[in-house]
Amino acid sequence: MNRKHRTSTPTPAASLLFLTGMLVLSSGHRSSCLPLEGETAPGTTRSAGAKVFSAYFQRLTRERRTTTPGARSSSVSPRVVEQLSPADLFIAVKTTGRYHRSRLELLLETWMSRSMAQSFVFTDTEDPRLQQRLGDHLIHTHCSGAHTRQALSCKMSHEYDAFLRSGRKWLCHVDDDNYVNMSALLKLLSQFRHTQDVYLGRPSTGTPLQASLSTRGAAPKEVRFWFATGGAGFCLSRSLALRMQPWTSGGAFMNTSDMIRLPDDCTVGFIVEGLLGVALTHSPLFHSHLENLSTVTDLRSQVTLSYSLVENTRNTVHITGGFSTQQDPTRLRSVHCLLYPDTPWCPRPT
Ligand code: UDP
Ligand code: MN
Repeated sequence: MNRKHRTSTPTPAASLLFLTGMLVLSSGHRSSCLPLEGETAPGTTRSAGAKVFSAYFQRLTRERRTTTPGARSSSVSPRVVEQLSPADLFIAVKTTGRYHRSRLELLLETWMSRSMAQSFVFTDTEDPRLQQRLGDHLIHTHCSGAHTRQALSCKMSHEYDAFLRSGRKWLCHVDDDNYVNMSALLKLLSQFRHTQDVYLGRPSTGTPLQASLSTRGAAPKEVRFWFATGGAGFCLSRSLALRMQPWTSGGAFMNTSDMIRLPDDCTVGFIVEGLLGVALTHSPLFHSHLENLSTVTDLRSQVTLSYSLVENTRNTVHITGGFSTQQDPTRLRSVHCLLYPDTPWCPRPT
């Protein structure tokens, strides 16, 4: 695994963190990491780094984020270093009340139907029917149902705490518009040790965030950090999750996210790369709807997929066979049939 920018771990209580050129999210919405003109965190100065940071934000509207192919090639080696079973995984699926039917149901019918034991759904709304179906795998977080930075970070904080309590080896976070290919995920994770510090995912930009980190009484230090886009899913090893505790456990994640005023996925990158100095391992196998999904090939090997049906900006994987686009607009049912053709509801080849 690549390691870069290794920094000493600051004592959280003694640390005062500022991001140079810190830009507030107008709505706190993860998909609108938009700059608020000229805003900087108190006590900071704009530097060359701020320019990079600001330029970055101008491109960061989630819908417009793109990954530069080969921005940093994956350092994933195909060698198995730790045998994993599905029970070693904790897959946290983030959802919200109004998507229980329109999005979650599709996941429950497809990949989750085969992976219920490792899937945990984090929501914000009481749903007795769903609760009965999922039992303690449905976690009502009591976080706000709004699509704000605070609400999303609140759910992330619950995902994180539940993972630590579970004792499992890997935490993988996904959104409710992600398909998870469990066998590809297990294959990928088995190339790492859960006892090492591993942060795996796909960055959604070609450049890292750049920030100035000030610790009281010390000269500001420039930190650059990549983050894995939440909409493509990402994974953290138990070892790393344990090291993240001072900034994540028991609600601390929300404070960290508030302090840097960045959404949940950016905050994870900030803690892991910026504070702990552990590098994100870039993987091209995670996919969000921010990239052009129709160009994704070798669907069987991808770890996550996604879709967007928003207005006229339909973005789905290209798959022939399976269902028609009318029957399966997201294409995820057809992907599921490609992976598991023996599923009873899959079309039989004629
Ligand atoms: N989400 C949420 N609360 C909301 C809206 C969305 O928790 O009010 C969740 C949603 O269930 C999904 C994730 O946030 O898991 C991303 O939402 P969406 O795909 O709508 O937005 P994106 O950020 O991908 O544009
Ligand atoms: Mn989405």
